[in-house]
Amino acid sequence: MSMIFQEPMTSLNPVYTLGKQLTEGIILHQGISQKEAEAKAIDMMKKVEIPRPEQMLKSYPFELSGGMRQRIMIAMALSCNPKLLIADEPTTALDVTVQAQILDLMNALKDELDMAIILITHDLGVVAEMCKYVYVMYAGQIVETAAIDDLLDHPLHPYTQGLLNSMPERWLGGERLYSIPGTVPPPGTKITGCKFADRCQYCTQLCRMAPPPLRRLDEHRSVRCLYCNGEGVQGGAVS
Ligand code: SF4
Repeated sequence: MSMIFQEPMTSLNPVYTLGKQLTEGIILHQGISQKEAEAKAIDMMKKVEIPRPEQMLKSYPFELSGGMRQRIMIAMALSCNPKLLIADEPTTALDVTVQAQILDLMNALKDELDMAIILITHDLGVVAEMCKYVYVMYAGQIVETAAIDDLLDHPLHPYTQGLLNSMPERWLGGERLYSIPGTVPPPGTKITGCKFADRCQYCTQLCRMAPPPLRRLDEHRSVRCLYCNGEGVQGGAVS
């Protein structure tokens, strides 16, 4: 299992060469020599399409663009053949063109190396492009799980509905773009009932009495709402 972090500009150590950083994990995990580890690092750099990989081993992070640094992070993460890659906002700090290249690269490597990816992101466009299954989280809790097409076509939880309605891509023009009222409670806030209650248009007194369980509706679909079933929100207050 390995991980890619969201900030390529600061994820690499600025005082070590890329070669040192790429080979460290390989040597530690695979117990091979520096030379063999360098050959492996060069292979990985080729896989993530880094030009002149032999020379790159001697370069420092400041010599690379954000997109190239993120490719190095991906090479580093994949160098020990993980079965699972956790990618935490891997493209947030990159411009749109580089973002698309990195996502394409991750998709291609996922198939080539036969691994799974857990992608953590707030970007629903990226989710739609990359994911098969989605876990929507609010205030540290899963509020809905679904296959991606089901989620986009038919969101059940009021938070998921609000998220999708806030997407500029879904805006039909004319009216002001929707945004979910209120803000996320600060971490550590004690909430007795549903964590989304203060922002939910369907909230009733019952919602504030006890935390709603995550109810399973079918193999991939579950929802954490007292008033949701497979059709969406049924009942509750409508404000
Ligand atoms: S449990 Fe109540 S407050 Fe929470 S999402 Fe459902 S309707 Fe809204």
